[in-house]
Amino acid sequence: MVKSMIKENLEKVEKKIQAALQKANREEKEIILIAVSKTKPISLLQEAYKLGIRDFGENKVQEFVEKYEQMSNPEIRWHFIGHLQTNKVKYIIDKVYLIHSVDSYKLACEISKEAVKHKKEVPILIQVNVSMEESKFGVSPEEAEEFLRKIAKLPGITVQGLMTIAPYTENGESNRHYFQKLNQLSVDIKRKNIDNISMGILSMGMTGDYETAIEEGATYVRVGTGIFGIRDYSERK
Ligand SMILES: *Cc1c(COP(=O)(O)O)cnc(C)c1O
Repeated sequence: MVKSMIKENLEKVEKKIQAALQKANREEKEIILIAVSKTKPISLLQEAYKLGIRDFGENKVQEFVEKYEQMSNPEIRWHFIGHLQTNKVKYIIDKVYLIHSVDSYKLACEISKEAVKHKKEVPILIQVNVSMEESKFGVSPEEAEEFLRKIAKLPGITVQGLMTIAPYTENGESNRHYFQKLNQLSVDIKRKNIDNISMGILSMGMTGDYETAIEEGATYVRVGTGIFGIRDYSERK
């Protein structure tokens, strides 16, 4: 067993978050760090929990449910951050704190249906493909408003803001304009005062670019590698 580096990693990430907040003249309470624990064993999540992490992000339904069941500490907030298939919504609906990745009307309808069934109000974010990479899910910035107006009417869900996955980078600066674009989109939508739509959350920034994202207004950053180390997909079942 390799000695875990999580404590050291977390300290580094937290220091960089502080520096970015300071640079942007923002306050600490405005940002929440989500530890993206996909592919990582429960023991590492538990270690992060002991170090104060309460927000965990997963992107696969089965793994999400397995980890939820092994760590059902009520203080933990489980974020679903991956592409979600409509037929799997039912498995996470009563467990998830926030779904970051709503990218189609069909998915929004399914979440709404399951939420109503469970008598829940489920908070969601709309995933926007600001970089327009073909490989990425999400609605285009141009169609975001119309999309929001359509799903605003669905019962059982409340839109809390926007999320984006910027292109992979190790140099945050190269993604700055995408974060600015998402922030501007959120400001524009907020001005329209659409019923049942709030724009309080901006989920953007990963290991390679979270400091830039914070400077550009992120309220959630999703950091995996920077906390848990690189992911090894080779041993997965
Ligand atoms: C994996 C993943 C992350 C974390 O990526 P790192 O580069 O390891 O920090 C963040 N957001 C989403 C949606 C992811 O799938």
